[in-house]
Amino acid sequence: MDERDKRRVGEQVEPGGRPKAPGRLELLQRFVNSYNHDFPRDWDRLGTADKAASWLGEKRLISPGDAVTAADAARLRGLREAIRALAVANQGGDPEPGAAAAIRAAAGEAALVVALDAAGRTALEPAHGGVDGAVATLLGILHEAQLTGHWARMKGCRQCGYAFYDRSKNRSAAWCAMAICGNRTKNRAYYRRRASAR
Ligand SMILES: [Zn+2]
Repeated sequence: MDERDKRRVGEQVEPGGRPKAPGRLELLQRFVNSYNHDFPRDWDRLGTADKAASWLGEKRLISPGDAVTAADAARLRGLREAIRALAVANQGGDPEPGAAAAIRAAAGEAALVVALDAAGRTALEPAHGGVDGAVATLLGILHEAQLTGHWARMKGCRQCGYAFYDRSKNRSAAWCAMAICGNRTKNRAYYRRRASAR
């Protein structure tokens, strides 16, 4: 895979060429896959306030003119890594305690309301605009996916941390792509970092 293709993973290309997650869960998958620790830091799509603003705008998570500060971008990156930890925990076991705490903290500032359309259908929608609204939308998707059962199939790759949607019958997929991550030696920095964080 050349650099151009690598830079497209998580947006135009799914990790391992797998089909993307269904419905709105695709957006949460894109959020988690906005960075991969195997790639240079400056490839992070939420790496700076400007990058985060353009990513959120592209996804219609914020409105044109909504302010995104460097602190907002850092907050989004923290939330992203916490949601990644939940996805990795879908491989089995509990997520790191720090991840749950980070998501609870984010949820505290992310108000959702029950909206109703003309046909009487309900939906969870952010109560406010801006980055708080974007965080609320993402957490609403997480909640919705847990209700539908789709979340259990959203897995963080054991090797690289990419979020992939496991469509296998017995939900046994462990790596984003056997050809890339499944065959790598497991004794890598990612594991050491995760182990030392426990
Ligand atoms: Zn992987």
